[in-house]
Amino acid sequence: MIYLDHAATTPIPRDVADAMYEVLTEQYGNPSSQYAFGADMKRRVEAWRQTVADALGCPAKNLHFTSCGTESDNWAISAACWQNRHLGKHIVTTAVEHSAVRESCRWMEKQGYEVTFIQPDGNGNITAQQVLDAVREDTALVSVMLVNNELGTVYPIAEIAAGLKKKNPATLLHTDAVQAFLKIPFSARTLGADFIAISGHKVGAPKGIGALYISDRVRNVKPLLAGGGQESGLRAGTEATAQIAGFARAVEVRMERSETFEETVSRMARLKAYAKEQLASIADVQFIGSGEAPHILALSLVGWPSQNIVNDLGSQGICISAGSACHQGRPSHVIATLKLPKKVAGGVIRISFGPDTTKAEIDAFVSALKTHHDTRMPML
Ligand code: PLP
Repeated sequence: MIYLDHAATTPIPRDVADAMYEVLTEQYGNPSSQYAFGADMKRRVEAWRQTVADALGCPAKNLHFTSCGTESDNWAISAACWQNRHLGKHIVTTAVEHSAVRESCRWMEKQGYEVTFIQPDGNGNITAQQVLDAVREDTALVSVMLVNNELGTVYPIAEIAAGLKKKNPATLLHTDAVQAFLKIPFSARTLGADFIAISGHKVGAPKGIGALYISDRVRNVKPLLAGGGQESGLRAGTEATAQIAGFARAVEVRMERSETFEETVSRMARLKAYAKEQLASIADVQFIGSGEAPHILALSLVGWPSQNIVNDLGSQGICISAGSACHQGRPSHVIATLKLPKKVAGGVIRISFGPDTTKAEIDAFVSALKTHHDTRMPML
């Protein structure tokens, strides 16, 4: 199989599965239990928290484990609105957020909030100024993703954070960094966001584990789950110890590669440039957006329906995505915001790389796409 859909999910390295297996079968103690077997697990959970926090560039006490990126996004939005409930009922976000943010904002609309959705330009870009211009005295929250999952666009979060401090310091800033964590260099310390959502299964950890960074500026954190006091009393429920172990080990595996993180990032950027070069030889290929993230490339085979391409290549063991995996069968709201002609929008596919993706895999994909182009009739 040729797997070019790492933005949808990633394979779990053997080391990660082994670390989880040990926790599931031998170190299965409950971190809340009073005896040594439980206390030991509590210490381990804190060590794993430290590992993930180090990779994110934040103190461990500010990192809270959740069940997924979606949960982290939902929590950030409700917690920000709760802290700023006396400031006002206005949210600024973008029209290209993942549904985890978009639907949470829509839910806040039902609670009486007004939501401003910033529109991107035809390449998916949004400037910090556009976001800041929309901020008002009553803006409780700004939520802008760090890397777009469909286009690979990197949004200027640090610039937005700096601008917010001047325009309305009380407004809280959330960023969905699910497609950025361990994919592009950034640190919670320098980014300036109050909330940062990440997810394990995008970086070689199992599905069912995520985390939310909450800055010290959020003094009155609204608990997500009330109960037994886990996660500093903010997200109760017995810790998913095996998943947490897997998350930390996945982070270590990515850090322990023979090349540095910066080297991996630039090698993947070169791989993306190589893919673009090869794809450019296929008539009717158009690149979509100007996403600079090294691991995501969106393109359209203009006139050929994307779902047919995905099915055809899938039957040959090549996994790619038609826009976002979360929007199967429906036109994605992100592509819709670009206002592309129907023939272009209908043919959008996304390929996304992992640290071990090879040129040979890219070549196989390009060749299959060319065959699809040369042998199937355009229908759009
Ligand atoms: N945010 C972005 C940008 C994503 O790409 C995804 C998943 O694709 C999510 C949030 C949701 O993460 P999870 O699958 O862990 O809920």
